[in-house]
Amino acid sequence: MPVYTSDALILRTYKLGEADRIVVFLTRDRGKKRGVAKGARRAKSKFTGALESLTRAGVAYYERELRDLVRINYIEPQRSPLAIVARHAENASALGHAEYFAELIDEWAPEGHADERLYRLGSSVIDAFADGAPTDRLARYFEFWLLRLQGVYPQLSACPECGGAFDGGAVMPLRDTHYLCRRCATAGGTTVSVEALRFLRSAASASPDALAAIPLEAAPGRELELAHRRLIQVHLDKDLKSARVLRQLR
Ligand SMILES: [Zn+2]
Repeated sequence: MPVYTSDALILRTYKLGEADRIVVFLTRDRGKKRGVAKGARRAKSKFTGALESLTRAGVAYYERELRDLVRINYIEPQRSPLAIVARHAENASALGHAEYFAELIDEWAPEGHADERLYRLGSSVIDAFADGAPTDRLARYFEFWLLRLQGVYPQLSACPECGGAFDGGAVMPLRDTHYLCRRCATAGGTTVSVEALRFLRSAASASPDALAAIPLEAAPGRELELAHRRLIQVHLDKDLKSARVLRQLR
């Protein structure tokens, strides 16, 4: 049985039998894996505290021929959302966001195909989160970059209809997934203001640890949240459970 070690992001877990858990994790070098953590539900388990969604960890696992499930030898946490949550004033919201980020990565990570850019995005977002980056800005940044990496974020350089600049803001029409300038958007839709577009342009060339210095007021933040929710729903063909929980928390 070949054994592999890799840095990984823990995405989710579920129960297996009486005492075990299945752990879904994104490795840096070999894509998304599903593995059995033996005894993880026992009181004295070596996996205690290592399986929270969005934990970054060193993982060692055995891959067995012709089996989908790997067997996890150990998980050594490097950054844990539990520590992050303790530092945020709004604990429930921070924990909810950790779940949300992990679910987004899980939905978008291809099974068994390496996607190092996705790994690096998730990893840098955990670091910024741990260092106290503003949670709402971090969420809009993460959605923006995730959709860009998949090649499905609408173009921001010019209106696809008339080629004009988005100098008065943009609108995402009701049944579409692109932005139009306000002159072309005659039938309404989700408005994205100049302030919101400015945030996106800054986010396009910034790392997430710079977010504290990139302004985003509540109203333009809300516009981006709505536009991104629509893009995510259309491209994943579903509404994420963790996103619903976050909305209920508010
Ligand atoms: Zn136009």
